[in-house]
Amino acid sequence: MLGAIIGDIVGSRWEFNPTNDYNFELFSSKNSFTDDTICTVAVADAILHGSEDFGKYIHSWCRRYPHPMGGYGGRFAQWVKSDHPEPYGSWGNGSAMRVSPVAWAYSDRYNVMRLAELTASCTHNHPLGISGAQAVALAIRDCRQLHRTGICIGADEAKRHGLQEAIRHFGRSVDLKEERVQNRFDETCEGTVPVAFWIINQSRSFEDAIRRAVSLGADADTLGAIVGSIAETIWAIPEWMKKKALSYLPEEMRDVVRAFRTYVHSHTKSSGWVIMSDEEIEALGNDFGVDEMSKKRNLMTVARIWHDVGWSDARTVPEEIVDPCVTCCHPGGNGVCRFGSSSRKARRLTHCPTYLPEPKWLP
Ligand SMILES: [Mg+2]
Repeated sequence: MLGAIIGDIVGSRWEFNPTNDYNFELFSSKNSFTDDTICTVAVADAILHGSEDFGKYIHSWCRRYPHPMGGYGGRFAQWVKSDHPEPYGSWGNGSAMRVSPVAWAYSDRYNVMRLAELTASCTHNHPLGISGAQAVALAIRDCRQLHRTGICIGADEAKRHGLQEAIRHFGRSVDLKEERVQNRFDETCEGTVPVAFWIINQSRSFEDAIRRAVSLGADADTLGAIVGSIAETIWAIPEWMKKKALSYLPEEMRDVVRAFRTYVHSHTKSSGWVIMSDEEIEALGNDFGVDEMSKKRNLMTVARIWHDVGWSDARTVPEEIVDPCVTCCHPGGNGVCRFGSSSRKARRLTHCPTYLPEPKWLP
């Protein structure tokens, strides 16, 4: 969900002042959060309160921020003002930009699809509005599931497996021509969701995905939010971007983001995974010189440690650190790192093996 907020804030400046400059300034004094962040926070807040009445929370949060940067779309603005808000058959991209929290809170497909529909249908109850929200949620859910399976794969493979069901669900081609989508402000789900998938398919990192989305010259903040919400499940968000984006939010929104992160962590215990690039996997395999199966297991553990400790280069992880973690995480292991206090570095990894209570390994 933080990926959506970052995409929104980065894109906010360019919503009505489009740019095609890929090297634009990501954060400046002209950026702000917009309706995309407010609605995303509202959905997360509803989940934190155990509520499925997303309309109530979105309505309430939008009323607290009646004049965000960029304002609210015409019909949505009327809905916010109304004391008796009713869905108005929208097929706009607003349903797709706010849905991400449901795919973090739930991992089973049934609930992700059901709740995605509920986040949409309070306003966007047109089939395309609902389908757009479900497709984005499904992409996030499926990419996250790839992490949870514990199989270390490259980003390209993650994209291929993670997006295929979502693309099929929405039923539109994502094989797009840049000249057909560049500089076209399209606020519909149909004109935005396939573009978001198309951008993810070309991207090489979280920042790259955000830059591509915003510099397309389209609906910059909303496309940024949708792309960011998917991108964060494939690549890690750089820490500095997280900190910077949070600094744009009022304290009560930051509280929701923090509480939601804790909620997700305590409910899934598997948010520390990283999908590595094919080059990184290859380099690690060469360094360790192990057979294929243990290579994959080692790589998987290294990826997790790498993310956890924040080492900039996973190849520097010493083998003696990797082996204990593989040992205690193997199917017969008890999940407790018995080497946890054996060295200064290992102490920092004591919680590493407990990310997955039931690690699933390659067959
Ligand atoms: Mg917006």
